[in-house]
Amino acid sequence: MRIQKKSFLLILIVVLFLSNANKSIAQSAKTPIINNDHLTMAVLYQQRAAECKALYYQAFNLAQMMLDKDLANKKLKGKRAVVVDIDETVLDNSPFEAKMITQNAKYPDDWYVWTSLAKAKALPGAAEFLNYAANKGVAVFYVTNRTEKEMAITLKNLKEQNFPMADTLHLIPKKNESSKENRRLKIMEKYRIVLLAGDNLTDFSAVFDKTSLETRDAKTTELRSEFGKRFIVLPNAMYGDWEGAMYKTDTSRTKPELRKSLLKDF
Ligand SMILES: [Mg+2]
Repeated sequence: MRIQKKSFLLILIVVLFLSNANKSIAQSAKTPIINNDHLTMAVLYQQRAAECKALYYQAFNLAQMMLDKDLANKKLKGKRAVVVDIDETVLDNSPFEAKMITQNAKYPDDWYVWTSLAKAKALPGAAEFLNYAANKGVAVFYVTNRTEKEMAITLKNLKEQNFPMADTLHLIPKKNESSKENRRLKIMEKYRIVLLAGDNLTDFSAVFDKTSLETRDAKTTELRSEFGKRFIVLPNAMYGDWEGAMYKTDTSRTKPELRKSLLKDF
């Protein structure tokens, strides 16, 4: 009886091992090789170019000047608010992008591994500007397309990086829609938004929601007087809606082919 039991267990272990081995072979055969080499220069720009750091300082210096101008105007009514995006606006996720290149990681799967660490660093000038605004009695809202399940860890990350008003009242995640328009309108029921900061044009206005490369370009020209005034733009060469808009121009091509075809040479 004891021998029978032992052989049964042995067979079970062998069967389980073989089925798992088959599964991993089948999976690796199905999983395409993820090549993110095209991201290398973009990530290096964000991480190593002091010019990129200078652009962040420039943007938040400008934001402070515009806020000061607004604060000095005693005729303006209503509670003031500043609205900022999180990723690549106040928190630096370039280590995740770097990992996608070095480890062939995939968005969005490994994104949650990264955000769960709560290790993103504050971008240059971001925490200083937002603390300046908060100290002047201005409400700070973080309107992000991070999801609700990432909220607790995002608050931890923001607090550890010394951001003000990092609480559930001021952090507004994505619920049903990527567009931030309804979330902005909700804030505007109680506040006057002095300025918005973001690395993606959809952080500013609904006219950029789900639009083509051409429309994004044309609307940017139309709204040119808002940039550097009410709209404070941060640099992000790594990803954004600009990239998605590019890929929709010709779905018959592979992404590397398409990227090359969109270059403007002479
Ligand atoms: Mg962003």
